[in-house]
Amino acid sequence: MSKTAESVWNNCLAFIEDNITSQAFKTWFEPIKAVKLTDNALSIQVPSKFFYEWLEEHYVKILKVALTKELGSTAKLVYIIRMENTYGNKQPFTEKIPSANRSNLQSQEIDVPVKNKSPELKNPFVIPGIRNVKIESQLNPNYNFESFLEGESNRLARSAGLAVANKPGGTSFNPLLIFGGVGLGKTHLGHAIGVDIKDKYPEKTVLYISAEKFTQQYIESVKKNNRNDFIHFYQIIDVLIVDDIQLLSGKAGTQDVFFHIFNHLHQNGKQVILTSDKAPVDMIDIEQRLLSRFKWGLSAELNHPDYDTRVAIIKNKLYRDGVEMPDDIIEFLANNIKTNIRELEGAIISLIAHSSFNKKEITIELARKIVDNYVKHTKREVSIDYIQKVVSDYFQMDVDTLQSKTRKRHIVQARQLAMFFAKKFTKASLASIGSQIGQRDHATVLHACKTVDNLSSTDKQFRKYVEDLSKKLTL
Ligand code: ADP
Ligand code: MG
Repeated sequence: MSKTAESVWNNCLAFIEDNITSQAFKTWFEPIKAVKLTDNALSIQVPSKFFYEWLEEHYVKILKVALTKELGSTAKLVYIIRMENTYGNKQPFTEKIPSANRSNLQSQEIDVPVKNKSPELKNPFVIPGIRNVKIESQLNPNYNFESFLEGESNRLARSAGLAVANKPGGTSFNPLLIFGGVGLGKTHLGHAIGVDIKDKYPEKTVLYISAEKFTQQYIESVKKNNRNDFIHFYQIIDVLIVDDIQLLSGKAGTQDVFFHIFNHLHQNGKQVILTSDKAPVDMIDIEQRLLSRFKWGLSAELNHPDYDTRVAIIKNKLYRDGVEMPDDIIEFLANNIKTNIRELEGAIISLIAHSSFNKKEITIELARKIVDNYVKHTKREVSIDYIQKVVSDYFQMDVDTLQSKTRKRHIVQARQLAMFFAKKFTKASLASIGSQIGQRDHATVLHACKTVDNLSSTDKQFRKYVEDLSKKLTL
């Protein structure tokens, strides 16, 4: 039976697979395609020049043994490199035959690459001309674990981050992928891990970079023809933090280079931390091989903070800024801005700014105005204001009437319903509900809630009100 490129290569693979780790096999051998067999020369196609260099550097011995077993002592190996071209056009294949002295595979020299043995480290963060080999981490010291408050919504991600910081590269959380919506603390947590590692292991090279900047640097390196320097630079990092990797979507060249850097770091026990605004399954236009690597370690989600965490974050921010704010306003903010911590902080800052500019006290009215600027853009939440509006509309009165001091039965009932729903659908305290619905005290709100409970179990008509309003409010 005659041998084909494929049959020879498959036999080689079987041998190699038995002799190296399965991860290394997957990374470095599965992407290879056997292309042709002529005489005793097997041509294999590899995805990039870097790939070829890596094979030559780390797997040349085993390749030789495998190939000699198959094709005898005159075996040759020819690499075909699919050159990556970032400007879009596909370049023809380039053939390379490994240098004879290194591979010991007898070979005809067609195109032996000049290997830059000890490349000078080019640091893309440094303006060319200014020599600086020390790598600045690009970390923000204020984004640390201490200022990253713990809550139900971030417990997993936060503790995984701490575990990684204690043993970078030494946990199964590699890569650690932190994902979650806008303003939920991905960047903060990414920095916090880096800051903590720098603290515990000052000798480690830590680098924080946004995927956007990474892409720019890469494009720059292609233009300047120093793509290899770019890769070498990233390969010496011990802890690489890449923020917002969803931005690599659709950028094939950058994904490819990142893939190689990732493999190198991962293989060498270096830690990779990634953040993304989506879970890996929801990422689009990211190559499968890269996506599958994102899932190797741990994906930890940052969820919307719960009420208590929101209050804690506000109080912490006020404390750090040395500002005092009444509790009912803190509760109001926490109740109305729920899905984005950055907006929550923004509202606090504008509130403080407004009140100090205009020498005004921070009041609920002011808070309401400012919050409106924030929440209008976001999804409608059930707020106490909204509840009062829905209840008043339902009973065909206006909100002022609902809040008025009158004892008319139908108005009292509407107000009590508003209080009842405020208790049910928001996390505001009784006192805060009272102050927002006609300046009543907490005892009045408590009484209202009890009354609504009683009436809805004894009065059919009243029960209908509760059901109708419930529906309207949860639509
Ligand atoms: P993302 O990168 O997810 O969009 P950021 O990390 O930029 O979000 O966080 C937005 C703001 O919220 C930052 O100012 C950050 O300090 C703050 N923040 C987020 N999570 C927390 C937390 N758990 N404790 C304290 N502040 C937080
Ligand atoms: Mg961010």
